[in-house]
Amino acid sequence: MTRLGETAVLEVEDLCVELSIGGRWVRALNNVSLSVRPGEALGLVGESGSGKSLTALAVAGLLPENARVVAGSIRLKGEAVLGRSEAELNRLRGRALAFIFQNPTSYLNPLLTVGVQIAEVFEVSPELLASEDGGRLRGGERRKLAWRRVVEHLRLVHIPDPERVARQYPFELSGGMQQRVVIAMALIRRPSLVIADEITTALDVTVQAQILRLLAELRASIGMTLLLITHDMGIVAQLADRVAVMYSGSVVETSDVASLFAAARHPYAKALLEAVPRIDGNETTLRAIPGAIPAITNPPPGCRFHLRCPRVFGPCAGTVPPAVALGEQHSVACHLYRDGPA
Ligand code: SF4
Repeated sequence: MTRLGETAVLEVEDLCVELSIGGRWVRALNNVSLSVRPGEALGLVGESGSGKSLTALAVAGLLPENARVVAGSIRLKGEAVLGRSEAELNRLRGRALAFIFQNPTSYLNPLLTVGVQIAEVFEVSPELLASEDGGRLRGGERRKLAWRRVVEHLRLVHIPDPERVARQYPFELSGGMQQRVVIAMALIRRPSLVIADEITTALDVTVQAQILRLLAELRASIGMTLLLITHDMGIVAQLADRVAVMYSGSVVETSDVASLFAAARHPYAKALLEAVPRIDGNETTLRAIPGAIPAITNPPPGCRFHLRCPRVFGPCAGTVPPAVALGEQHSVACHLYRDGPA
């Protein structure tokens, strides 16, 4: 699925974002760099407050009003995201990006049937039907074609009896079915990149597994490129090719998934993996990471993980560790590796 050497769909370089909190600007993202290649799934993983969702919002040009980008660049399909007008951003997002949020209930309009909501995409972007109707169809015929496409997309995400479901309102559907509808809506434009932000968090375990299987299948069938935001290493293992681990606004380790699970290098990445419950182990209690992620209003100096790190030593409290390449697809920001692989 991953094709090395191809132009990245998404490139983020040295992105720094500040938030206005209590009347002053504080740094929330520090030199975040990552890339996603065509057909690839990158897992962006970390605890709450690590900066994953803020990174995703910056990529989509959807930062909140109290945020500002102070350095770095973001390119989607080679086009710069930063510095664009809202109208230009809308056009770029429409062509290149779809965002699937955690809670489908808040995304879907309760007053419209799901079919009408999906069909609205064709109202906004009639060119999506142009290749099929040659630009000739008008009125009722065009609406019929749009409706056929709606039903096809509900079928694509394995909604049973899609003709009936298209005529139902969101409240008539389960949380899992609503999430499938949102995924169908996101795929209509065949976006170059789909950002999925904690999309299974609000679902029960069985439905979560079904949605993950669906995403894996869509990756294979339509070559979906995915930026997967999650706090759950199990989801990363199931769905991602590569992973970027974030802590307190910085990427601390980037690796292919197999290497990270076999031998994570950064102490925080190791601790995250040790906190994952295993069914093949003898341990009866889960290992938690002691302490809490620092407040961005008062971060510790040096390595931001040093107050929680079991390997802390000399330079950690005073110097921010730079990212060190350990291989073509592997880098880590930790003083333990400042001289290369340990
Ligand atoms: Fe731990 Fe030091 Fe590495 Fe930070 S730089 S993760 S404190 S060993």
